[in-house]
Amino acid sequence: MINLDVPAKFARLVDQAHQAAAEFFRPHSRKYDQAEHTYPRELDMLAALLDGLSASGGGAGAGGVRRGAAASGNQNGANLRLLLGTIEMCWGDVGLLLSMPRQGLGNAAIASVANDEQLARYQGKWAAMAITEPDAGSDSGAIRTTAVLDGDHYVLNGEKIFVTAGERADCVVVWATLDRSLGKAAIKSFVVDRGTPGFTLVRLEHKLGIRASDTAHFRLEDVRVHKDNLLGSPDIQGFAGVMQTFDNTRPLVAAMAVGVARAALEEVHRILVEAGVTIDYDRPAFSQPAAAATYLQLEADWEAAYLLSLEAAWMADNRKPNSLQASIAKAKAGRSASDITLRCVELAGTLGYSENSLLEKWARDSKILDIFEGTQQIQQLIVARRLLGKSSTELR
Ligand SMILES: Cc1cc2nc3c(=O)[nH]c(=O)nc-3n(C[C@H](O)[C@H](O)[C@H](O)COP(=O)(O)OP(=O)(O)OC[C@H]3O[C@@H](n4cnc5c(N)ncnc54)[C@H](O)[C@@H]3O)c2cc1C
Repeated sequence: MINLDVPAKFARLVDQAHQAAAEFFRPHSRKYDQAEHTYPRELDMLAALLDGLSASGGGAGAGGVRRGAAASGNQNGANLRLLLGTIEMCWGDVGLLLSMPRQGLGNAAIASVANDEQLARYQGKWAAMAITEPDAGSDSGAIRTTAVLDGDHYVLNGEKIFVTAGERADCVVVWATLDRSLGKAAIKSFVVDRGTPGFTLVRLEHKLGIRASDTAHFRLEDVRVHKDNLLGSPDIQGFAGVMQTFDNTRPLVAAMAVGVARAALEEVHRILVEAGVTIDYDRPAFSQPAAAATYLQLEADWEAAYLLSLEAAWMADNRKPNSLQASIAKAKAGRSASDITLRCVELAGTLGYSENSLLEKWARDSKILDIFEGTQQIQQLIVARRLLGKSSTELR
């Protein structure tokens, strides 16, 4: 029989991550929502604590892990641990988690494709991730940033937009093509240190949600990076290399969605109960007050998103190819979080819409989780291609 409980060995981590979210994130949620682009100094201490936890194998941020080390048998390993930690932290605040030093999406990319020497070199660095360009969003294969080998260095030229944590991170993982005529197979990722000559911050974006997180626009003009900064293999063999990153990062974005949706559900549950609405799990939803029936439906949606996210991470821990499940989890959790948080605003009435509660903020924060690391439509396209056995040229 499948046991859907959180593995006992992770109970302490979940508890610690929840406490950290409650004590470090929640009290500062509104402050940094309003003070957009101000770095949340309070996170430095928490980041140091997380570093300590990671060193002892208990990290709870978005920093990323290697593929599972399991040789045989069922493992609940580092991917599941990271996913559970991320859910709890995003129950606290998604924007603040995305602002945590050394827990960037670029760190997850490094963890998934870097070789051992690179892993050691970037240990302790905060890495952002730069794929998107003015003319390449959903179609990441269309990027125009180029990387040309010149002696021991690659010379990068191009433009990158909407880079989460771009201003604050120590380095940025930049996707660039070695040869545009060779299509997706020639796309590689390069670690560019902030401060490298020619790597210029153009501006920071003002946003609907996750305002605690900085979102940067960069220009790259003759940026020279050592050839050892190319992550993975320099050979042009297939798009799979850089795309593998998404198998690690999509379940994490799903986890963020699961966390913020649960925050909204808990808050609206409290509000409904206080208002005298009884939510009865032993009676059919249709025989209950409309608010209770809606709540039950939202909770069922949430549970599906949660279980799909666990599955994607569990598969990675067990070295099972999880691209399909990563996209399913991201599609379900991203859309559910957006729907759930907005319905919670509605259920709570004026309280939901006012700044006296965090419900309106969570509705704004959750929208990005259905957009970055591949939009809802793109996840559905990937799932359809995989299920129907179609290539990206056959189904687009
Ligand atoms: C706050 C924020 C943070 C971000 N952080 C990062 C980051 O750290 N790193 C990074 O690289 N990028 C980041 N992004 C960029 C994000 O990944 C892109 O916005 C996303 O991939 C969509 O690209 P686009 O905005 O160019 O939209 P487009 O690709 O132009 O798409 C517009 C609409 O068309 C739909 N669409 C596109 N193609 C198809 C298709 N074939 N079939 C059906 N529908 C389709 C899309 O789903 C979308 O709804 C961030 C964006 C935001 C807003």
